Amino acid sequence: MQKKTTCPYCGVGCGLDVGLGEGISTPLVMADKSHPANFGRICSKGSALSETVDKERAPKRLTHPMVDGQVISWDGATAEIAKRLQQTIDKYGPDSVAFYLSGQLLTEDYYVANKLAKGFLGTSNVDTNSRLCMSSAVAAYKRAFGSDTVPCCYEDLELADLIVLIGSNTAWTHPVLYQRIVQAKESNPNMKVILIDPRRTVTADIADLHLAITPSSDNFLFQGLLNYLMQSGRLDEAFIAESTENFERVADSVKYADMGAVSKSCGVEKSDLERFFSLFANTKKTISFYSQGINQSSSGTDKCNSIINCHLATGKIGYEGAGPFSITGQPNAMGGREVGGLSNMLAAHMDFDDASIDRVKRFWRAPTMAETPGLKAVDLFQAIHDDKVKLVWIMATNPAVSLPDSESVVAALKRCETVIVSDITDNDTTEFADILLPAEGWSEKDGTVTNSERRISRQRGFVKADGVAKPDWWALTQVAEKLGFGEHFNYKLAADIFREHARLSSFENDGTRDFDLSGLANVSDDDYERLSPIQWPVNSSNPLGSQRMFTDRKFFTQSGKARFVASKASLADAVKVISENSLVLNTGRLRDQWHTMTRTGSAPKLTSHDDVAFIELNPSDAMKFGLKHHAIARVFNALGEVSLQVKIDDSIDSGQAFMPIHWNRKYAKASTANTLVRPNVDPISGQPEFKASNVSVLPLMHRYWVRMVSKRPFNSLEKYDFWSLNQFEGGWVALLGFDETTDWRAELASDAGSYSETSKNIEVLEYRNSLKDRYVAATYAGSNIETFLFQGGCASDLPSRAWMTESFMSSSALDTAMLVRGESDGRDELVCSCFGITHKRIRSAIDEGAKSSVDLAQTCGAGSKCGSCKPELNHYFSKSK
Ligand code: SF4
Repeated sequence: MQKKTTCPYCGVGCGLDVGLGEGISTPLVMADKSHPANFGRICSKGSALSETVDKERAPKRLTHPMVDGQVISWDGATAEIAKRLQQTIDKYGPDSVAFYLSGQLLTEDYYVANKLAKGFLGTSNVDTNSRLCMSSAVAAYKRAFGSDTVPCCYEDLELADLIVLIGSNTAWTHPVLYQRIVQAKESNPNMKVILIDPRRTVTADIADLHLAITPSSDNFLFQGLLNYLMQSGRLDEAFIAESTENFERVADSVKYADMGAVSKSCGVEKSDLERFFSLFANTKKTISFYSQGINQSSSGTDKCNSIINCHLATGKIGYEGAGPFSITGQPNAMGGREVGGLSNMLAAHMDFDDASIDRVKRFWRAPTMAETPGLKAVDLFQAIHDDKVKLVWIMATNPAVSLPDSESVVAALKRCETVIVSDITDNDTTEFADILLPAEGWSEKDGTVTNSERRISRQRGFVKADGVAKPDWWALTQVAEKLGFGEHFNYKLAADIFREHARLSSFENDGTRDFDLSGLANVSDDDYERLSPIQWPVNSSNPLGSQRMFTDRKFFTQSGKARFVASKASLADAVKVISENSLVLNTGRLRDQWHTMTRTGSAPKLTSHDDVAFIELNPSDAMKFGLKHHAIARVFNALGEVSLQVKIDDSIDSGQAFMPIHWNRKYAKASTANTLVRPNVDPISGQPEFKASNVSVLPLMHRYWVRMVSKRPFNSLEKYDFWSLNQFEGGWVALLGFDETTDWRAELASDAGSYSETSKNIEVLEYRNSLKDRYVAATYAGSNIETFLFQGGCASDLPSRAWMTESFMSSSALDTAMLVRGESDGRDELVCSCFGITHKRIRSAIDEGAKSSVDLAQTCGAGSKCGSCKPELNHYFSKSK
């Protein structure tokens, strides 16, 4: 059986072909050659999807509803939810209940949750984790265009002559778009790419110019660009006059931003600024491609508008290869925006104005409409903490890890009267659930998602859900029915919801609203099942969808003109308060992980590239704080403390640090990035500042450090002072730090007793080298190795995970005595996840004559499948490694 579906990870929204054979439990996942988002491309995360649905590896799957820790029927669980919702609303009012949704939900789930809350419960406290990823981009589009409209499409990246990547490590965060840009650049020698990012990420590989600006100085940069465009006479006067408003005011506000002032504020040489400004001014087909580096800021909305201002000033919008292009992080952040998943939007891109409230109320025949915007994510969890919101229903997201100041979020969840969680697996947030609902996940559920270029695609189920798991929309309809609203939620299929959603988008629209699916409002069940990817709006003027917006240079403001928006450039507080002993911490995503690792953490292929949460430091800072490469550091500020492996890299400037967002509390004792991030939000969008927290760093000192490999999951990790855990093809690997001397022989023998029927089968071999402070042990059951550990006095001296697991898998070659003598260089690093190719293997291929990444692909296979590691492979040939 072959099915077409969509990847559940990033906002690129790649199409996938999934194959399932008779009696084969693990699906074969391949890129869909016909999907317009990827045309046969895929990244490491997408290509490892089959591992994440492997039942043996996945974290504990939720299979049955539970109320207060007891398994219960769906009928019982949804009756209990309805009862608690009603009681809470009766006692405290509608705003005492809230929904916290997710860009992982399908549009149909989102639609039903929003309708129930805003139309029938009377609360607009419906927000989503997409608030954390792109709400500033939404707010800026609305200020400029009068609507949340992404003007561009992916093809524009191939048609542009200049791509400005701003605050985006595209190679890792949106790998397939990066691959499309690389290919376009190869085909068009005139294409230029400029990267604007405080860090020199792997994306810099394709950049003709990298502006390593001071963190948070983007606003100065784009105000400087606008001033340059004015001073050099490069404005599109006709476009400004006919299609925009408010130019004069904004022009006045940026006159201060001359080359000298911008160079100083941004920390960039004037000659580099001049080159960027001149390229922007002189290249008609220019795309500004921006993502979390811009949005996740306490002034993110202003930053987005400063970028849009430059496009409006030069008329670079509404034609091929041009426009300000916000790329979303999540697979269905756009679908959430469409239905009103953000608490300040009503539904179908309508706001909380009187006319829209009345329109939506009539369409839904809603008895109790919410009439004002609700709480945004950070404020919502603060309100839970302050006992103002008494009941929260969380779907498909892990706020205990993903929200800033995560310890406060945990405290809020602990004290909330009723926490309902719908999810597919056990995670940090499900621990606090009074009512737990097993949702259908990717591979099981059916519906639609919208990617970053407004393209709606089907996500199709192809395996039966575990236990009695159900779609989220279905659970919501059961609750609605028990609250007495059954006739309004009488959906039998996801297609029923989609049709209603499409009808609402066109209801009394008449071209006044950008989001219009009237052309799909009567789609049959069969056509919905077969629906091909299509970009909205889909209506009588554009029955086959719409590639680009604003081609007629008309916008959705009252005047029909786009608006210039003035903003005040100021460096974030965190950047200002750098002291001798603190660093500005930037957080972000890695190549092979997704969100809080609840899915990707179970794929061995994806855990080997970066196995332990880390902090990246400039060599001078590492030396200043006494930190060695691969040692463990304490990273702390007033909010809390985490422990991270040190990576020393000169791609980050002195005074700055970077750490990944992904690690949850199931994979490490204390490596959650948001422990350190203040809940400091953009005043317009409510999006938190994730990119500039002040932190201090010191070595984490423990007497013993151990890397341990085991066939089975580890027991009792909590007793260690430091632990970090991940999976590999043959079992589990842990890094441990502690002070008390451990009798490993006794410990391993006792552990073996828990799985071996006869302990006489178990043999523990151990070797000690006191001079070198090393100890090695291995446990065998018969001739099979069960565990293998290496203990030393410093984490940086332990053999690498790659070497330990490889040795474990080929245990006949395991010469522990050699290790103790210290004759083995056990340090190696994985580069290509698809084929498990390590740094050493690549080095030896180069020694044998490989001269390019193409040669590497041919000789050892590295980079020849998904291509996500190609930027790293290119590094071998662009600098010595
Ligand atoms: Fe999935 Fe990778 Fe495509 Fe993103 S780029 S949608 S993670 S396959």
